[in-house]
Amino acid sequence: MAREKTVSKKPAGAETAPVEEKTPAAVNVLSEKAAVPAAVEKKAAPAEEKTAGTEKKTTAARKKTAAASKKTAAGKKTTAKRTTAGTKAAPATEEKVAAPVELKAEPVKETAAPVEKKVEPVKEAAAPVEKKAEPVKEAAIPVEVKAEPAKEAVAPVEVKAEPAKEAVAAPAEGKNETGKKKTASAEKTASGAKKAGTSGKKRASAKKAEPEEKKDEPVVTVEETAPVEESAPVNEVSNLPRRSIAFIGSECHPFVKTGGLGDVMYALPRELARLNCDVRVILPRYACIPKEYQDKMVYRGEFYMDLGKTGRNYYVGIMEYIWDGVVYDFIDNQEFFTSGNPYTNLVDDIPKYCFFSKAALAALNYMNWIPDIVHCHDWQAALVPVYLRTLFRDTPVGRAKSILTIHNLRFQGVYNIPTIQYWSGLPREVFGMGALQQNWVDANMLKGGLAYADRITTVSGTYAGEIQTSEYGEGLEDHLRYHSGKLRGIVNGIDYGMWNPETDPALAENYGLGNVLDHKMANKLALQKELGLEENTDKFVIGLVSRLTDQKGLDLVNAIVPQILDGNTQMVVLGTGDKRYEDAFRFYEDAYKGTFSACIQYDEARAHRIYAGADALLVPSRFEPCGLTQLNAMHYGTLPIVRETGGLKDTVEPYNEFTGDGNGFTFDRYDAGLLLGAINRAKTLYFDNRYHWDEVVQRDMDKDVSWELSARQYKDLYLELTQW
Ligand code: ADP
Repeated sequence: MAREKTVSKKPAGAETAPVEEKTPAAVNVLSEKAAVPAAVEKKAAPAEEKTAGTEKKTTAARKKTAAASKKTAAGKKTTAKRTTAGTKAAPATEEKVAAPVELKAEPVKETAAPVEKKVEPVKEAAAPVEKKAEPVKEAAIPVEVKAEPAKEAVAPVEVKAEPAKEAVAAPAEGKNETGKKKTASAEKTASGAKKAGTSGKKRASAKKAEPEEKKDEPVVTVEETAPVEESAPVNEVSNLPRRSIAFIGSECHPFVKTGGLGDVMYALPRELARLNCDVRVILPRYACIPKEYQDKMVYRGEFYMDLGKTGRNYYVGIMEYIWDGVVYDFIDNQEFFTSGNPYTNLVDDIPKYCFFSKAALAALNYMNWIPDIVHCHDWQAALVPVYLRTLFRDTPVGRAKSILTIHNLRFQGVYNIPTIQYWSGLPREVFGMGALQQNWVDANMLKGGLAYADRITTVSGTYAGEIQTSEYGEGLEDHLRYHSGKLRGIVNGIDYGMWNPETDPALAENYGLGNVLDHKMANKLALQKELGLEENTDKFVIGLVSRLTDQKGLDLVNAIVPQILDGNTQMVVLGTGDKRYEDAFRFYEDAYKGTFSACIQYDEARAHRIYAGADALLVPSRFEPCGLTQLNAMHYGTLPIVRETGGLKDTVEPYNEFTGDGNGFTFDRYDAGLLLGAINRAKTLYFDNRYHWDEVVQRDMDKDVSWELSARQYKDLYLELTQW
């Protein structure tokens, strides 16, 4: 997941912000002069807080501060983009400012050990927003448009929020239940192929949008065109109880993908649809989404939404695409989503994902599609659970339960408190140490989401345990330990439709479990030819498909390339990322022509050919929440060589030369010598005992790494949260 590192940058404008301030209350004085903050305790969370007054007076001041921060921090980054998009601002709308808010915060204590807490019903009396909007017509979207009665589903601006209570700890039995390994079953292997080649019985279950009409909201809306529904999967729909889930995340294959998150957002909803879930995936409508998908989207509606303390109303368009039983709703706003890349820099990304998180919930209200569960992913959607329990608490979507999945804890969405307050518009009490506040200066969006979500999941049992330690916790280990009662690990799967060597159009020759030994060599030869390597099936070919970043253990690889290339071995690297790794691999390609290939690029089809043509795949990661490349490799009969961390540990069982068990080669400590040892064990088996090597090849192809088992665990979690 090539998301930018969440280094907090403090705009110079934020100097006006409370750098020297000692308390969260003080932090807010600047941005909310009118509020009358009681002394807030410096520790865990505000003890008791009474806030009164409105913020209107300070709006201008705040605007200035935020604008200044933005400009300075952005540095070279232009801010014109954002301001020009003001073209879409709604006509002068008299916005009702927040009514006096009474806050009562309970002290939140963070303790190292998991704590069971009683759920205290959070009472919140949110006054519905009265909004007066002039009829607006959005001309940007060339769709059939008919005026319709006003519909709008904006979050109430006025919130009488309850103190930031730490979200409730889950029952003890729920702890990290998924450390177990999946068991391979022979029958399952065939199921992938089955799934891949079938077309659907199940039809998308998008409910018809019938947004509630709101009084006093004379906004012109538009009649939707019937969404285009694409063929659905053939698999039987399970008879498990039906649940509706809104997936909210920042990327999803095939629309936009930078890493594993995109794969999960694609595959899991489809699998859940087979498990009798009504799934809607909410994504930003980035300009970089390929035209073929943009063309398939159908206009679903639009409304205007206030955002934070900007004092503006922002256009929220909803474009819809229905595909294989899953409804994709794209949040449209040209101001935020025009970049060629989903992630640019935090200065832009913080406002972008504040907007996106709020707009996603407002869109659900607007469409009157109220899910049982809102399932959010990574920091970009981490404010969703916070919004859900504050600004949206008394709106229809407020009844949904929330799950936040950590795909990679390294990325957290950290920025200074005033900026996140400004853009999110979240009430002050959520900026306590029990939720968003990270230190005296910064707020952490992921941390806030973890506090407010009803359940937290991450993508493997081992990673769920690791992130509670200082080695892997990225500074959130205490917070995660505190919330460990509601933390689960569910290992990812791979989509057998996308990853199927029997039907994969990218391969030189297709093969399955039954004939892998006959055809894998042809794929090896084709790969060698494609990459200019010596065409020789006797060579042991090691692949590496990865983002080229620190996380992936590439310094270990770099340290031992000359030892790996012993005359009988070839290496292929596919990836992009940090320049130092790109350059190092280019150097090796130059130094070992015909033996080492460095493909510094992102190329899906080539990745497929490497999985098929290599004998082994390296994944020596420093940390790896789940890892998908080792699963792809195994499914293509390529043996993984991995470090025992996170999902790598949960999915790769080390080969045991005495029993013949296992499905790959592993090493534990982060050490180049140990990596070399694992590679050498693999080579020994390959060159000295091909019969047993081939057995492992077939065992790996036979291993069930599909989404089916994982999706069932998610479904169980949904049911656990929605017992009625
Ligand atoms: P991460 O999400 O940390 O990047 P994962 O192993 O979870 O790592 O997922 C990586 C996904 O991206 C895999 O599906 C892999 O095949 C794909 N991928 C990574 N780099 C490339 C590349 N350069 N070209 C094509 N696919 C790539």
